[in-house]
Amino acid sequence: SAKREGRGTFRLYEPKMDEERLARRALERDLARAVEAGELELFYQPIFDLRTDLVVGFEGLLRWRHARHGLVSPHEFIPIAEETGLIGPIGEWVIQQACHQAANWPASIKVAVNLSPVQFKTGDVMAAVTHALASSGLPAERLELEVTESTLLDAGAVGDILQQVKTLGATIALDDFGTGYASMSSLRSFPFDKIKIDQSFVQEMNSSSGSAAIVYATLDLARRLGIATTAEGVETEEQLGVLRAAGCTTAQGYLIGKPMQAEHIPSFLVQSEVHPLRLQSSVEGT
Ligand code: C2E
Ligand code: MG
Ligand code: MG
Ligand code: MG
Repeated sequence: SAKREGRGTFRLYEPKMDEERLARRALERDLARAVEAGELELFYQPIFDLRTDLVVGFEGLLRWRHARHGLVSPHEFIPIAEETGLIGPIGEWVIQQACHQAANWPASIKVAVNLSPVQFKTGDVMAAVTHALASSGLPAERLELEVTESTLLDAGAVGDILQQVKTLGATIALDDFGTGYASMSSLRSFPFDKIKIDQSFVQEMNSSSGSAAIVYATLDLARRLGIATTAEGVETEEQLGVLRAAGCTTAQGYLIGKPMQAEHIPSFLVQSEVHPLRLQSSVEGT
């Protein structure tokens, strides 16, 4: 038969492909119910100010607690959400959840949320943000929206929407800087408040002179543009020391704190103030 394996045998179909397709369909069905089933959870990763040695914000990072698969990575389900249109309701839930939880935090602490390019095409980002701010009472100044370069390439209207959100008082960060293919034109097409340097450059900074050059150049560029910087994926004190010396304004990574559940934030903040993460002293002289 056509299915029999062997030399010169033509396989009509790949059984493995079918399995993958079925698994994917099942995930799509599960994801469609995930919001109502309460399976989505927003974790928060601290953002640390290198000039004051204080935690100044948290980035919301989505997790899916699947009944059978356990915690599913956003790298797996965000693309499915984007292709099925589920990113609309999911993205609105994320903005709501982040604003409502951040409203309980000290006034000096901001919250950042990631936005998918698809949300700008199919949803009303401005309405979602306005509604979340109004219903939570969170001042707009404490909300930051993170977009990637591909968001700006897709549609001309995106710049207008981001500008409206900025007019409210929220800030806009360019995420994963350096990994897209139009970094410089993205910076020219919109007045970002912050550049987030992708973790791939940060983590290779001390082993690859090319990555170090990109980090230094990005920090210099941001300084000249008068905008803030966050180094992503900081895992070692050596990386933090180099970034601090180079004038990076904020850092985020496992060294400072892993993404955590909202309930752990109050004690994390108390800890970080009682024992300030004065990592500078521990890297001096190395
Ligand atoms: P991102 O926005 O660039 O988020 C940073 C990612 O780096 C997070 O992965 C975070 O857990 C991880 N990370 C932080 N510090 C370190 C470190 O020191 N070492 C290493 N190895 N990794 C670190 P995560 O949570 O798996 O999220 C992956 C991506 O999924 C995010 O990248 C973002 O693009 C997307 N994502 C997450 N939540 C949302 C969401 O609510 N909406 C949308 N549209 N996308 C989201
Ligand atoms: Mg992000
Ligand atoms: Mg990033
Ligand atoms: Mg990323």
